[in-house]
Amino acid sequence: MIVSEPTMGSATAILDTETVATLQAGLRGQLLRPGDEGYDAARQIWNAMIDRHPALIVRCGGVADVIAAVNFGRDNELLVAVRGGGHNVAGNAICDGGLVIDLSPMKGIRVDPVSRTAWAEAGVTWAELDHETQVFGLATVGGTISTTGIAGLTLGGGFGWLSRHYGLACDNLLAADVVTADGRFLRASAEEHPDLFWGLRGGGGNFGVVTSFQYQLHEVGPTVLAGPIFHPLDAAHELFRVFRDTAAAAPDALGGMAALLTSPEGVPLSALVPVFSGPLEEGEAVLRPLREVGSPVADLVGPMPYQTIQTLLDGAFPSGRRNYWKSGFLRALDDAAIDVLVEHFTRAPSPFAGFGIELYGGAANRIGPEETAFPHRDSPFNILIFTAWEDPARDEANFGWARDLWAALQPVAADGVYVNYLGDAEAEGQDRVRAAYGAATYERLAALKRAYDPANLFRMNQNIIPAPA
Ligand SMILES: Cc1cc2nc3c(=O)[nH]c(=O)nc-3n(C[C@H](O)[C@H](O)[C@H](O)COP(=O)(O)OP(=O)(O)OC[C@H]3O[C@@H](n4cnc5c(N)ncnc54)[C@H](O)[C@@H]3O)c2cc1C
Repeated sequence: MIVSEPTMGSATAILDTETVATLQAGLRGQLLRPGDEGYDAARQIWNAMIDRHPALIVRCGGVADVIAAVNFGRDNELLVAVRGGGHNVAGNAICDGGLVIDLSPMKGIRVDPVSRTAWAEAGVTWAELDHETQVFGLATVGGTISTTGIAGLTLGGGFGWLSRHYGLACDNLLAADVVTADGRFLRASAEEHPDLFWGLRGGGGNFGVVTSFQYQLHEVGPTVLAGPIFHPLDAAHELFRVFRDTAAAAPDALGGMAALLTSPEGVPLSALVPVFSGPLEEGEAVLRPLREVGSPVADLVGPMPYQTIQTLLDGAFPSGRRNYWKSGFLRALDDAAIDVLVEHFTRAPSPFAGFGIELYGGAANRIGPEETAFPHRDSPFNILIFTAWEDPARDEANFGWARDLWAALQPVAADGVYVNYLGDAEAEGQDRVRAAYGAATYERLAALKRAYDPANLFRMNQNIIPAPA
């Protein structure tokens, strides 16, 4: 007998062995329960702060398993979590006591080089999708760490090295297959269920389980001009100013970020990672001012395969550490803000603490704020303050450092925040979810939620509360 948290009802759901056996018999994939081999591995995600014990994990083999799992979770009033790549820092991919619909075994990818489109199933990571598209010299906009899942990243928006060139990941979504809370299987696109399609492009996992994504591809590389440039910490002021000013005048093909971090040898560094995805000769000229600053410790910029820059930073963000993030869009990166960043970094509580300032603008900012459910189309930068550590006794020191830095940046903070960088609801609060959308987009999403998931079955996420009927 299994006891589980309820989703909607007030009574605790009791699942007898026979009910669970019926679910198991109808699956192509695996059903895991506490004690089963593979259960502990399947409940682990990127952020080791999350240590939850679901009652059931359905490792989906395909769409039929997803439909079975959604129907089972709803009919038995279970708390339902949906897992793609398992990278979200808030840890909503795993629940305590309920049902996890785990899509990570679903790895199908089909590229059509003629129409320059690709279908990819919801368990695919960016490394896997890039592998299949780059063989044709194509890519869509993906994240900057290749182990991240395409599913959660695309549904929340999706920033990457190509975002100024081709928009966000969600801007390149052409269609999605979705299993909704009532167990229906729908295709969402500009032509079919366009309201749902709008909500899937930024609204996260609120409207159903996406089983496959269709992306627009672009000619990318296979060689791009890219790589990190490292300087001593005291060069950060000049480096960040040149980054800011160069970016303001740069063509769309320049993507990248600026960062402060600590080297594996324990040396504090300032860094830029420019990625130029246009013609290499043009890139040499665009990147020149960034490469002429002071005396770098190392300038590793050069022509490199797109897949190399896509995987270059993976080692800095391994799975299995405790992680905490604060984030928000910035209106500007003025000299006072740079002073704040450098000063706070000198007090970083962990060698794995730092921040990245992501370059927006270009194509990402030319989409209208109402066109998708990702409304932040006017900020030049987004900052991700991150810290990672291993000893739980260091939790508070790390939380406090990230929060203090974010508080000190308020003079340049925009109102909005990127939903995919939000922490758990308890730490962030429902106001922050509203800030991720702004009032107008949130209201529209709440109405859509009422239409597609009125009972809030999918609530283990940055939750949109269904609008009252
Ligand atoms: C190391 C690291 C680097 C990152 N870099 C970037 C970056 O460069 N750019 C960027 O934009 N973001 C980045 N992110 C953030 C990333 O976009 C989010 O963490 C995203 O949620 C990860 O997606 P996932 O499928 O791996 O995560 P999961 O934790 O599996 O999913 C997150 C949530 O998305 C929903 N979800 C997942 N799959 C589905 C589905 N198929 N159907 C419906 N709902 C679903 C669920 O609500 C789930 O809780 C990074 C995260 C990490 C940890």
